[in-house]
Amino acid sequence: MSLYQKIKSAITVRQVGEMYGMEPDRHGMVCCPFHSDSDPSMKLNDTYYYCFGCGANGDAIDLTAKLFDLNPRQAAEKLIHDFGLDPDKPPANAIALLPPKRGLTDEQWADIAYCLRVLTDYLDLLHDWRERYKPATPEEPHDPRFEEALHAT
Ligand SMILES: [Zn+2]
Repeated sequence: MSLYQKIKSAITVRQVGEMYGMEPDRHGMVCCPFHSDSDPSMKLNDTYYYCFGCGANGDAIDLTAKLFDLNPRQAAEKLIHDFGLDPDKPPANAIALLPPKRGLTDEQWADIAYCLRVLTDYLDLLHDWRERYKPATPEEPHDPRFEEALHAT
């Protein structure tokens, strides 16, 4: 995950707006800071903002960059600082923003069950070989089945 993605998955555009003095109403509407706006015409969503008045739009980093006249890199650093983000740690609420995991289909489960069965059989076989073909003395050359059992288990 890139630094920008990490930031964007950790904070919403709405949180950014609130951090920098916007007061979204319950629909997430605020007065647009990018044109003279008397009626709130900018909507702050979780992942992007959009102004119905002037068409300004972008994500959390774009908003910060535009508000403070920064380049994206500087905006990212400002967000990390202002929100106390640790870019080396996975964002706390990233999981919540991920799309819900879809379950496996019956067919996929069947494949997994089959693979597990094959693996289990193979391991049983190896354990068996390891006992059965164990050299009787250290000098005796190793049976290839004993070798495989040693290396694979
Ligand atoms: Zn606007």
